[in-house]
Amino acid sequence: MQYLESIVGPVHRQGNSGYDVLRRGYNLAIEHNPELIVEARSASDVVAAVRLAATHKRAIAVMNTGHGPSVPADDAVLLRMGALNGVRIDSARRTARIEGGTKWSTVINAAARYGLAPLNGSSPGVGAVGYTLGGGIGLLARRFGFAADHVRWCEIATADGRLRHVTPDSDLDLFWALRGAGANFGVVTAMEVDS
Ligand SMILES: Cc1cc2nc3c(=O)[nH]c(=O)nc-3n(C[C@H](O)[C@H](O)[C@H](O)COP(=O)(O)OP(=O)(O)OC[C@H]3O[C@@H](n4cnc5c(N)ncnc54)[C@H](O)[C@@H]3O)c2cc1C
Repeated sequence: MQYLESIVGPVHRQGNSGYDVLRRGYNLAIEHNPELIVEARSASDVVAAVRLAATHKRAIAVMNTGHGPSVPADDAVLLRMGALNGVRIDSARRTARIEGGTKWSTVINAAARYGLAPLNGSSPGVGAVGYTLGGGIGLLARRFGFAADHVRWCEIATADGRLRHVTPDSDLDLFWALRGAGANFGVVTAMEVDS
């Protein structure tokens, strides 16, 4: 399959070890039967998986923790994001750069070392990026607003196989749409948020 050799992370098919574990997330209400499961290790893996899916006319699905409700990813390329879990705090700018598969618990712990706190929700096990792409109404929302109101930029692999750095200046419409309906517009490999 074209682009398969470009993927560094493990790729699983039905019958491979790992397939049955990785097609499940926290929410077991939906059963996913993807054709391939890609464990992304980098933004390049995400781009290669998107190109592979587009070239071979497969849908692409994204699962981090699997906390969100979803539709079955049958015959799709399912991207698992959990290995993209880096956080970098910039204490001077009071920001966090969060990779696409990072859980809130990781961000909270990293920020707390600097006396900072992100706008997380009620569960530390939820994905910070998936949460923020949906708006994100957390414990501090009455005072500070939605988590999505505090996004500075997103790095996203779009359906045309490009990795874009999206800011209000570079692409206002996409930046606007990502902050609330974000899961519809591509795979976010990283974002920077206020902390
Ligand atoms: C126990 C619990 C507590 C919660 N508390 C709150 C709360 O306090 N406030 C609140 O607003 N919400 C809350 N939620 C809802 C939660 O924010 C959403 O379900 C969120 O979408 C989960 O994101 P996830 O990445 O963990 O889950 P997933 O199921 O892995 O992903 C959810 C959606 O986001 C997409 N997605 C995930 N990562 C990416 C990415 N990197 N790029 C593109 N798309 C991506 C997925 O494709 C899917 O459509 C809670 C949910 C649970 C189960």
